[in-house]
Amino acid sequence: LLVDPKQRTFAQLNLSEEVLRAVTDMGFTSPSPIQAEAIPAIMTGRDVIGQAQTGTGKTAAFGIPALEIVDPSERHVQVLILCPTRELALQVADEMRKLSKHKRGVKVEAIYGGDSIERQIRSLKSGVHVVIGTPGRVMDHMERNTLKLDNVKMMILDEADEMLDMGFREDIESILEDMPEERQTVLFSATMSKPIMTITQRFQQDPILVKVIKKELTNTNIEQVYFEVKPKAKVEVMCRLIDTYDLKLLLVFANTKRKVDEIVEDLQVRGYMAEGLHGDLRQAQRNNVMSKFRSGTTNILVATDVAARGIDVDDVDAVINFDIPLDEEYYVHRIGRTGRAGKSGRAFSFVSRDEKYRFREIQNYTKVRVEKGVIPSFEDIV
Ligand code: ADP
Ligand code: MG
Repeated sequence: LLVDPKQRTFAQLNLSEEVLRAVTDMGFTSPSPIQAEAIPAIMTGRDVIGQAQTGTGKTAAFGIPALEIVDPSERHVQVLILCPTRELALQVADEMRKLSKHKRGVKVEAIYGGDSIERQIRSLKSGVHVVIGTPGRVMDHMERNTLKLDNVKMMILDEADEMLDMGFREDIESILEDMPEERQTVLFSATMSKPIMTITQRFQQDPILVKVIKKELTNTNIEQVYFEVKPKAKVEVMCRLIDTYDLKLLLVFANTKRKVDEIVEDLQVRGYMAEGLHGDLRQAQRNNVMSKFRSGTTNILVATDVAARGIDVDDVDAVINFDIPLDEEYYVHRIGRTGRAGKSGRAFSFVSRDEKYRFREIQNYTKVRVEKGVIPSFEDIV
């Protein structure tokens, strides 16, 4: 994540001492560009639209001002954050807990499908101030009357474009319709599509637009290379790349669940520590896979696009497009998982004959010419 040295410091953002201390504990020295712009904008109390790419620090950009308005002595939900996936909800909850570490009594809860609803109900009953949820589960709780939003002061839509892509539009609209009128609505999105504009026009009042967009769609810290590979040779080529570049933490994308399983099996057979992540796994299994990957017990995570949405893992050395994605935007999302926090990263794409055309379309879209790489020979490895 790039921080501009000329940028303001967190201390200049009028934050409370508790939040400022938490930010320092998290190792954040200065705000990222989107944080430097969005935090003051949100703290004016007005509605805000924030546009920035993945990995730019959007969570703290809304999380910090959200915590500033929470009054722990009032025992009701004051902030509602909607996220597209359970992984993302868990990650945002984690960051909110870290940010609220020194603010005593603040309770944060993630509610998402696939987790015991009874446990969530008990937790909500015990008094929660900040709720982070996926739209479906939030609706479910609203219908059961186990989540009351009458006192919500701030509503945040994180990754709004992803939520709409995933078909959550109706849920989001019903939730927004049921919210108190007197609330602040903050929407974050990497892209500003027409459906997003429709939502903001309907549910936001005179929003401030905060936009931090780099010229290139893809981050320049990422070295993008493609290899011409026959489908059958992809696993072999991947193993050679892992060994040649000594890749420690790797995210591999495939287009289908079945392919994910196959790749994982091939890698495991060859002695690599690989795990798969896709929608067929139960929540406990997904959490388990993610925590193993975060701790480095597993160093290769093979995932589908949907399963990988929004996951934030630091220090991924490389992203491998085992399959070329069917959607150009997926390419941008995929490779955005490396080269974060100002570090360098690699994105390797495996292009078979059938995928050449699609890969060319992707390059037209990103306006970046990807170099053709030479597949390391066996001698390069040993
Ligand atoms: P986004 O939501 O825009 O994809 P995240 O909020 O997930 O980005 O942040 C990406 C990573 O950068 C996270 O690991 C986060 O902890 C880290 N980060 C966020 N803000 C800062 C900062 N000001 N300084 C250093 N690291 C930061
Ligand atoms: Mg995010």
